[in-house]
Amino acid sequence: MLIDSFNRQVNYLRISVTERCNFRCQYCMPEKPFSWVPKEKILSFEALFSFVKVCIDEGINKVRITGGEPLLREDLHTFIAMICDYKSDIDLAMTTNGYLLEQHAQKLKDAGLQRINISIDTLQPEVARKITQKEVLKEVLLGVDAALQVGLKVKINMVPMKGLNEHEILDILEYCKARDMSVRFIEYMENVHAQVDISGMKSKELLAVIGSKYAFTDEGFDGHSPSHYYRLDDGYVFGIIEPYNDDFCVTCNRIRLTAEGLLIPCLYFDEAMSIKEAVGQGNIAEAARILKEVVRTKPEKNRWGDSEGEISKRAFYETGG
Ligand code: SAM
Ligand code: SF4
Repeated sequence: MLIDSFNRQVNYLRISVTERCNFRCQYCMPEKPFSWVPKEKILSFEALFSFVKVCIDEGINKVRITGGEPLLREDLHTFIAMICDYKSDIDLAMTTNGYLLEQHAQKLKDAGLQRINISIDTLQPEVARKITQKEVLKEVLLGVDAALQVGLKVKINMVPMKGLNEHEILDILEYCKARDMSVRFIEYMENVHAQVDISGMKSKELLAVIGSKYAFTDEGFDGHSPSHYYRLDDGYVFGIIEPYNDDFCVTCNRIRLTAEGLLIPCLYFDEAMSIKEAVGQGNIAEAARILKEVVRTKPEKNRWGDSEGEISKRAFYETGG
């Protein structure tokens, strides 16, 4: 079992399988040219899997595949199958922008994927173009339909931003309600890679919009999820992630692995250790040592809410969010 210095059990590994992306979301990686291809330093699926096995053997029982855009990694379903074959009861999920999902949904499901989070910030094509700097909405919505059709459990992530998609909170909520999908509104997290003029909506503002149409009750937190849950009178539950209020750090159970093999104890901070050499040499004992050391050094809290704190230098497209 992996226990950190604040007595939190770490059982959740998020793996960013690539930092490349086919979108250029304003809040994530607005500046990189579309032709940008990072040095091919990324770990092979075999190398990633050898580390995943170490993690599972040490007590990880929940894995999320993310990116960049994970579906840009060729044959991603084979990596998913490797993990599921090793531990059939693993809680395995993925986060994607949905653009390539229509063609991959069935393969992912057959490989063992159970749950998928799809990022949809808008239902209006021109707003989607503005946020992602590409014509994307039609494909993304087809991806959602395909995921539902093959039987994946779908959750939608939305980052509400002033002057961009703030008028679509209820539309997204209703789009999700109608399809029996849950939705999480994620407060924009400031970071040095994002467009400077973004102003995210805070949970109070979101709740005021939702409250203008629906009555709801506060359900609080549930287990290790960073989401604060609310229940509408008809039973539908939605979540809000409020990183500027670090209440959820006390139950944080996650660490993150980048495509280059950096193991990160907290989304906010720069600290990380590389497992690349250890897995490259097949040195499982060293990989396990690094895993335990990263868990040991996991900070107590993020600093998004700290007005004295610097803006985080962590790139969401490297860490997977
Ligand atoms: N490309 C995939 C996607 O967009 O779903 C997976 C990677 S993306 C980094 C994971 C999640 O992080 C997305 O839901 C995205 O909206 C969120 N995200 C990225 N930058 C963010 C920021 N600055 N603040 C809040 N959420 C952010
Ligand atoms: Fe790509 Fe996801 Fe970042 Fe948007 S949020 S640029 S889709 S990695």
